[in-house]
Amino acid sequence: MAITSLQTEPSLSLKMEGFQAPATIAMSMRARELAAQGKDVISLALGQPDFFTPRVACDAAYEAALDGKTKYPPIDGILSLKQAVQQKFKQENNLNYALDEIMVANGAKQILFNAFMATLNDGDEVVVPAPYWTSYPIMARFLGGIPVDVICSEENNFSLKAADLRKVLTDKTKWLIINSPSNPTGAVWSKQDLLEIAEVLRDYPQVWVFADEIYEHLVFDGQVHYSLAALAPDLKDRILTANGASKTYAMPGWRIGYVGGTKILIKAMMKIQSNSTSGASSISQAAATAALHHCANDVEEMKKAYDRRRQMMKEAFSNMPGVTCAVPQGAFYVYPGIKGCIGKTSAGGRKIENDQDFAEALLEEQYVAVVPGHAFGLSPYLRISYAADDAVLEEACKRIAKFVEQLT
Ligand code: PMP
Repeated sequence: MAITSLQTEPSLSLKMEGFQAPATIAMSMRARELAAQGKDVISLALGQPDFFTPRVACDAAYEAALDGKTKYPPIDGILSLKQAVQQKFKQENNLNYALDEIMVANGAKQILFNAFMATLNDGDEVVVPAPYWTSYPIMARFLGGIPVDVICSEENNFSLKAADLRKVLTDKTKWLIINSPSNPTGAVWSKQDLLEIAEVLRDYPQVWVFADEIYEHLVFDGQVHYSLAALAPDLKDRILTANGASKTYAMPGWRIGYVGGTKILIKAMMKIQSNSTSGASSISQAAATAALHHCANDVEEMKKAYDRRRQMMKEAFSNMPGVTCAVPQGAFYVYPGIKGCIGKTSAGGRKIENDQDFAEALLEEQYVAVVPGHAFGLSPYLRISYAADDAVLEEACKRIAKFVEQLT
């Protein structure tokens, strides 16, 4: 857009208008403020493992640093990591990707950024099943796209139904996002639902699919994770299968994500990456390579702990008046509904008109930080991360129960 008046001071771009920090961060910031004031705050607002990164990954990073693996890495990732990812896709997902169909980036978040940047023209629509991870619509909008919600209701176990998808697809649709197991609901979409989604996609050949499988290892109750690209091989070339080390291996700070997809798109994403970040840290890539090769047992141990905590949350939330809670079968979140609490008043005199009010009052009065469902596109719900120590979760549940019981 042309600048019509003389600028008298440095300014931000027009793109920044409407570009808000995710609500997850806003809640954590308030929690930090209260903690700095000496309050005993429990934050269940952030989605990150509470475990340490497995030792073998840390050792590999240390050795890489000492061994001079400190030059710029290849833009698309170091060969050993790409090979480990290739093997992982083959063994765990039944997906065959050539090495030039795989790339590594600074987290799955940057994979998403690269993918949207490489494909979106102004006005292109991005179908985002709600509730969603907040970065999907924010990033789509930032890069000129128009996010289009499609509700995955609690009655449908927060899964996307083919008929609902069909209603929102248009000739302007550029992307469909799929995130199973899901942040924020913990839903694991069934094979049947995925097959029916694939059937709809066959009628829309221009649509790319971003299959965010970052929580794939965290599935419980005997559930199985399915990769859409494996279920629908005829669609494989328009599906990006995205994943990363952050959740599976408790490595969010190392910033390693990876993806498999068609060569044309991967090449375009590499162009963006080469001109923006130059790729992911070589040290982190060495750590992630070791994690992919050697940490299956660590993953199993962490999974056991998440499952135990999940049971604890399920128990706690099923006994709270006015609260409903579907049993999450994946990831490390619960997404309880609080319809029965709306219209009530908290012990501290705060009127609860919506889930934002609930989350704020809970934080101010019981010092527990959770994220209101509206941030994820479906209200009135709360997203609660149970990636925290058992004792901390127990105390948090007690406080939430107290808060709910005192509502009048
Ligand atoms: N996808 C989903 C669904 C997530 O919840 C997150 C992290 N909150 C990410 C991607 C980002 O992962 P990374 O750390 O690899 O950027």
